[in-house]
Amino acid sequence: MTTTSELRNLPSVERVVNADSLAPAVDAHGREMVVELAREALDVARKRVLTGDPAPAGEEIAEAVLSLVANLTAPSPRPVINATGVVIHTNLGRAPLSDAALAAADAVGRGYSDLEIDLGTGRRGSRQAHLQSLLRRITGAEAALAVNNNASALLLGLSALAAGREVIVSRGEAVEIGGGFRIPDVLRQSGCTLVDVGTTNRTYVRDYADAMSDQTGAFLKAHASNFRVEGFTAFVDERDLVALGETSGVPVLHDVGSGALLPTERYGLAHEPTPQESISAGVGLVFFSGDKLLGGPQAGIVVGKRDLVARLERHPLARAVRIDKMSLASLTATLAHYVMGEAETRVPVWRMISTNADNVRCRAEEWRAILAANRVVARVEPARSAIGGGSLPGETLPSWTLTIDPPSDRSPESVLSALREQPTPVIARIEEDAVRLDPRTVLPEQDDDTIQALTAVMAQ
Ligand SMILES: *Cc1c(COP(=O)(O)O)cnc(C)c1O
Repeated sequence: MTTTSELRNLPSVERVVNADSLAPAVDAHGREMVVELAREALDVARKRVLTGDPAPAGEEIAEAVLSLVANLTAPSPRPVINATGVVIHTNLGRAPLSDAALAAADAVGRGYSDLEIDLGTGRRGSRQAHLQSLLRRITGAEAALAVNNNASALLLGLSALAAGREVIVSRGEAVEIGGGFRIPDVLRQSGCTLVDVGTTNRTYVRDYADAMSDQTGAFLKAHASNFRVEGFTAFVDERDLVALGETSGVPVLHDVGSGALLPTERYGLAHEPTPQESISAGVGLVFFSGDKLLGGPQAGIVVGKRDLVARLERHPLARAVRIDKMSLASLTATLAHYVMGEAETRVPVWRMISTNADNVRCRAEEWRAILAANRVVARVEPARSAIGGGSLPGETLPSWTLTIDPPSDRSPESVLSALREQPTPVIARIEEDAVRLDPRTVLPEQDDDTIQALTAVMAQ
């Protein structure tokens, strides 16, 4: 049969839309939308026929329309189960929020709020006011500002304080943070001239001093958050840089990255620089993310000297990068956990980090036992969990995984991809040809879905 005559076998749009199976979709979403999707499905079918395929039956096209409807109306992005053991996974949305942070976003998103109104006077207020006392209390800074994310905080800070001037950066800190975000590019975008000093592994205060001139707008220090320089190294302490800058009014800007407000060494990890330390070292402004080790929503936070923060607030870019009300509400609620001394138990990323390996092992054992009853064979093995998200490079926590050896006719990759296709997708990892799931990063309420997904996939 020729392609042209086969094309004639395709049903009309009218016939597709009138299929019984599409009646509920027409009722729910209106005829117009179903007609449009039927056209799209028929276009796809026509292209297939032109490549030599037989014309699909009307019912098959109606099925295709139904799946287009489902795609259009499905929530997206949708929840997944993070069984990778990587606590702050940027591709999986970084920090899960605490109950209080979620409730705060919900309450403010659902209705109106005192976002920019002073309830005492009835006059216009500042959305930044909501965070001031919390951030001052936690970090010891004079003032604070929250914007869309840390990248935009840096862009704003550099633009407001050093546009048209030189910014001195150690060669070891002119880094790429990830996703194309590079310190030299941000400087250029902010209208600053990068003056890099020292070498990749060693930089001294005298390098900064030698490069200083009346053109110097700021010293920028950036935490090498996603790699480690080891061995013969020397980096300049913030205190020494502050002392150098004070002689001629050059502020030190410190990008600490992850926003660790608790001491990471308490959990057996290397020390991650904290905003508190930078403030007490006298740094002018400290920059950090809201959704890394701080454990809140996406945000960029700037704390530091009052006059410097005020210059950022007045800059036109401040409006372009401002934080939205739901993030602001959940950030405030997250910060309150730190003030109340309950961050370790209430902020999910800290709960995950502080969970000891025995607890993780117990959960893996529970999963293993239930799976065994479902005829799925698994082992429980020691492993390491990474922190991730551009913090604590190379640092891991002792952990345990549920480990499954795929049957000989299946690759571990195919098991991983089947897990991603489950109703609640599960993201696992492969090590030594086995599929591994680390319970540390799986929320307790996701245990059942995880076991169900594994059972379904291993029964395939
Ligand atoms: C992650 C990171 C950034 C970027 O922060 P976002 O909140 O993702 O914009 C900037 N600097 C450092 C050192 C970082 O680790």
